[in-house]
Amino acid sequence: MVTLEQIHHAFQKSSGDQYLDFLAQRETIERILQLKEQKNVLVLGHNYMAPLVYNLSGEGERGDSLQLARYAARSDKPIILFDGVRFMAETAKILNPDKKVLIADMQAGCSLADPFRGAAVRAYKEQFPGLPVVIYINSYADAKAEADYCCTSSNGLQVVQHAAKDFGTDQVIFLPDSLMGENLQDELREAGSALELIYPGKYDTKHGSCEVHEKISLEMVQNIRDQYHLPKHQPGKTLPETAVLVHWECLPEVRKEADLCGSTSQMIRYVREHPSLQRVYLGTECEMAANLQNEFPQIDFVRTCAIACQHMAKITLDKIVKCLETEQPEVTVPEEIRRRALKPIERMLQIK
Ligand code: SF4
Repeated sequence: MVTLEQIHHAFQKSSGDQYLDFLAQRETIERILQLKEQKNVLVLGHNYMAPLVYNLSGEGERGDSLQLARYAARSDKPIILFDGVRFMAETAKILNPDKKVLIADMQAGCSLADPFRGAAVRAYKEQFPGLPVVIYINSYADAKAEADYCCTSSNGLQVVQHAAKDFGTDQVIFLPDSLMGENLQDELREAGSALELIYPGKYDTKHGSCEVHEKISLEMVQNIRDQYHLPKHQPGKTLPETAVLVHWECLPEVRKEADLCGSTSQMIRYVREHPSLQRVYLGTECEMAANLQNEFPQIDFVRTCAIACQHMAKITLDKIVKCLETEQPEVTVPEEIRRRALKPIERMLQIK
């Protein structure tokens, strides 16, 4: 269980602004920690949460969607507070039907999940009958209920290949992220795989994307490379001092320009495994760099905070206090949909 002293210590090491923010919010944070302990709450924090919220969760309580889904599945606490967006809290509820799952703001949505519901998945199944459907975790329960497998940005490649093998096919429907679908397809092609992914926009005019990652343009990344002296990695060169790491939800040309394309946890692992790093650009939601900056004060993280997720930013300390006090709003999923949505998630969790 994370303590006020640990959080204080973490912010003391951080930039002056962050420490001042902590001091200003200290009483609110203390109240949240009291409520967390009194009510025996698992507080899960996504990597994109602002540092003051992110630090309410300790080791084994924070991470990317896949890690948080696994923590939720293993927890024996009666209440889960999900500091992330609503589809993530729904996933925790699907895995923990007997627990109370709370989210500080029910309006914390997602540009990928919001427009893409169950009916949209059914339309793809009708258009391409018999093919397995892999749905990205950034989707609501009714959309997951129509899919065969769920995946996250950590395991997308693994899951699409697994689905193709299970169904004995070389075509897989991948929903709802068009850019991630294209990136995965490129990666498969580059690895010599004949597997074809069918994603929104490939055979129709539909489009699904993250409103944050799609704004990271090739021009912007090239400018960052020039301005901050972040040369592209040469194959075989050891101990990089700089790196450009981007997310699977970015544009395909941005993936090609990066030194590594991965999930948030894969980017974090890269930083942890390369102690020679001095400067890093993370092509993803900008709060993640703020959180990593606290862990790696010696690294200069280039941040592009004009690009931030308005949905993640809805989760604030004040709303968290109210949510823990009132145990509202509670995330619920109709039982019939929950049972069907559980299958693709369980299949994903079983893939090692
Ligand atoms: S960062 Fe993008 S994918 Fe993540 S919640 Fe925000 S809009 Fe959705």
